[in-house]
Amino acid sequence: MSCIFCKIANKEIKSGIVHENGTVIAFDDIAPQAPVHVVIIPKSHILDVPGLNGVLEDIFSAVDQVAEIKGVKDPGFRVVMNKGKDSGQAVDHLHFHLLGGRPLKWPPG
Ligand code: 5GP
Ligand code: ZN
Repeated sequence: MSCIFCKIANKEIKSGIVHENGTVIAFDDIAPQAPVHVVIIPKSHILDVPGLNGVLEDIFSAVDQVAEIKGVKDPGFRVVMNKGKDSGQAVDHLHFHLLGGRPLKWPPG
């Protein structure tokens, strides 16, 4: 399996792990787009949205924990999932971005 996020989940590749629960792991993005930029992934190699059904509770529990750990609960933050070519998705293993630490423009580009 050559998936970079599977390697991060299996700890074959080092990342700045922020939080982990049963089915999910959260780590600092290697190319942050905001002062706080954490990637939240299911540990299993899920490619499509319906596959997320079983892990959504753990993902949003991790969102809450990461926001608390990073101190962005009060000022606020954004959660983004890119899916497919038009979104700019670069890694197939489905994942969520948590961004914060600065005012975020809307709509996104
Ligand atoms: P996407 O564009 O697919 O929604 O987002 C993929 C994200 O993963 C990008 O923000 C990118 O910077 C991040 N990323 C890609 N490879 C690595 C890596 O090896 N380590 C970490 N920590 N982040 C990565
Ligand atoms: Zn994977």
